[in-house]
Amino acid sequence: MQKGKINVTTENIFPIIKKFLYSDHEIFLRELVSNAVDATQKLKTLASVGDYKGELGDLTVRIDVDKKKKTITVTDAGIGMTAEEVEKYINQIAFSSAEDFMEKYKNDSNGIIGHFGLGFYSSFMVSDKVDINTLSWQDEAKAVAWSCDGSPEYSLGETDKKERGTSITLHIDSDSKEFLEENKISELLDKYCKFLPIEIAFGKEKEWKDGKEVELDKDKVINDTKPLWTLSPAEVKEEDYNEFYRKLYPAVMDEPLFNIHLNVDYPFTLTGILYFPKIKNNIEIQKNKIQLYSNQVFVTDSVEGIVPEFLTLLHGVLDSPDIPLNVSRSYLQSDSNVKKISSHITKKVADRLEDIFKNDRAQFENKWDDLKLFIEYGMLSDEKFSDRAEKFALLKNVDGKYFTLKEYEELIKENQTDKNKSLVYLYATDKEEQFSYIEAAKAKGYDVLLMDGQLDTHFLNHLEPKLKESRFARVDSEIVDKLIEKDEARESKLTSQQESDLTPVFQAHLPGQEMSYMLSYESLSEEDQPVMITQSEFMRRMKDMQEMSGQAAMFGNMPDTYNLVVNTNHPLVGKIVEQTEKKLGKKLEELRTEKSGLSEEQQLLEKAKEGKKEEEIPQSEKDQMEEVNKKLTDLENKRIEMLKKHGSGQKLVKQLIDLALLANNQLKGEDLAAFVKRSVDLIK
Ligand code: ADP
Repeated sequence: MQKGKINVTTENIFPIIKKFLYSDHEIFLRELVSNAVDATQKLKTLASVGDYKGELGDLTVRIDVDKKKKTITVTDAGIGMTAEEVEKYINQIAFSSAEDFMEKYKNDSNGIIGHFGLGFYSSFMVSDKVDINTLSWQDEAKAVAWSCDGSPEYSLGETDKKERGTSITLHIDSDSKEFLEENKISELLDKYCKFLPIEIAFGKEKEWKDGKEVELDKDKVINDTKPLWTLSPAEVKEEDYNEFYRKLYPAVMDEPLFNIHLNVDYPFTLTGILYFPKIKNNIEIQKNKIQLYSNQVFVTDSVEGIVPEFLTLLHGVLDSPDIPLNVSRSYLQSDSNVKKISSHITKKVADRLEDIFKNDRAQFENKWDDLKLFIEYGMLSDEKFSDRAEKFALLKNVDGKYFTLKEYEELIKENQTDKNKSLVYLYATDKEEQFSYIEAAKAKGYDVLLMDGQLDTHFLNHLEPKLKESRFARVDSEIVDKLIEKDEARESKLTSQQESDLTPVFQAHLPGQEMSYMLSYESLSEEDQPVMITQSEFMRRMKDMQEMSGQAAMFGNMPDTYNLVVNTNHPLVGKIVEQTEKKLGKKLEELRTEKSGLSEEQQLLEKAKEGKKEEEIPQSEKDQMEEVNKKLTDLENKRIEMLKKHGSGQKLVKQLIDLALLANNQLKGEDLAAFVKRSVDLIK
């Protein structure tokens, strides 16, 4: 029995590494099993080129857990190792790479996460002793036993192992007992080894018999050695993709929308299948992710930095030995191979979408509502993708019809160009709430888009500057005549004096507090609504932006400001004016006469002041001026008071305002109840 000392400079390297790798201890199993698989594949290669002439026999890799002895054993029938090879690969390489590793990451514990290729050495993270028993494939090779208790000392000697291959036994330490649980090992095998290319057996198949679960005399193979992505796309049927999807995400109920089979071997190797899932909520986005493999060994499901951000929403698998895995995330993004892979994936995704759009538009439209989140996200975050997607991104109108950007422009060009030659895209964000506005726009022959998706409003902000001489306007941002201004002015039935008398009458009923309303007059058609509420596109977007940027939390919410538009040509508005004049006409007339007398006086005084300096004006004149001004203000206040008092008794005014609020979903609670009661009274 030979004894030796492994050439590691730091004597207590093991405890340090154990601590360092705390969160990632479980990868030891992945490392050991993939070493066993590698050794088996090497043997198959040797056999296929004729270097190995013996029987291959059963090549299954086996994992055994002995809870009593506290061991885990991984056994393969691969190439095995000679004493020289153990000396070289285990004592020198495995341990020196461990030392390198320590050196490299001693100040960067983050760098360790996602590290790959820690190899055989990682078994010491969970063991206080590791034994290797191995017999090389080579003729006349002698079986070797190696053992190491984690200190840099090891023993190496001969043993009587008869079967070709390697068996590695871990004596699990007291901190790592969880790995002696069958369930834990099953879970890890399922996570890391599910798609390894050589059969992996753990435990026996079980069967229900007479109400009891009994073990059968048949190994339980835990992996699929030929996962779908390793096949050529021509061999795979559509239903196979869906079946594979269910295997990857057993908890997801919906079928994926589309899949993309990636298969590149030059200038980098990349295989995989990506799926467009139906996204329901954020929880699912967090849970189900793209899985990254390296030669069928699971590496991670955090692919940020490897695929463009918007594609991290996709599901599926990527397998590429060309993605460097033992580097930090920030380094990944600057790696040229990774960049190439990332833009290749983007291109493939765009190709596939364009392909479906071109060849099966009906299907594409059918799935658009579920797809658009990806596509809009992609267009918002990736210029290259945006350029490609402009061809197949769809706009949906309130009637559920779909158009490409080009088609839509054609559709609205004629009717929705305003007098400044700007093309106006009308949209609604809520079909129910904005119903009356949508109807008004439709009555004008306009088309209205439905923009009710999570990213739709961001998306239109993104689109607006790209479309030439165009703007987006929500249907309720203006009264319909002004949404798209044309050159056709309509006469108003009211004089400006009548409008000015109407203002206090309406103001007597304006709702206040959280929202503020600005009164304005428009000469619309008699058929249009008498009173309407709009919210300026600009103000609304400002507010949205403020809310999104989180400023709202800091400065308090911007109040919502709305316009209350009175249609001066509506018969009911005419009636209100008429009633006001009938009741107050005389008094108003008197006020006006008095007022114009005072105004004349005011003008004379102003004239007398002309050209004089302040100190040259006699005090009497100044006093007179002050008095006239005061009288004028008093008169104006009197007028307003009078009209307001009259207005507050006008149920019709209140009714018209409430109807406008109701059409805009702003009449609630007590006000709504009062409205209902008043309506009944009015009908009686
Ligand atoms: P890596 O696998 O990254 O090369 P490891 O530390 O895991 O590094 O393994 C070191 C070397 O030991 C391997 O390259 C291989 O030559 C040898 N080895 C490890 N496990 C086995 C095994 N089960 N059968 C044969 N050789 C093995």
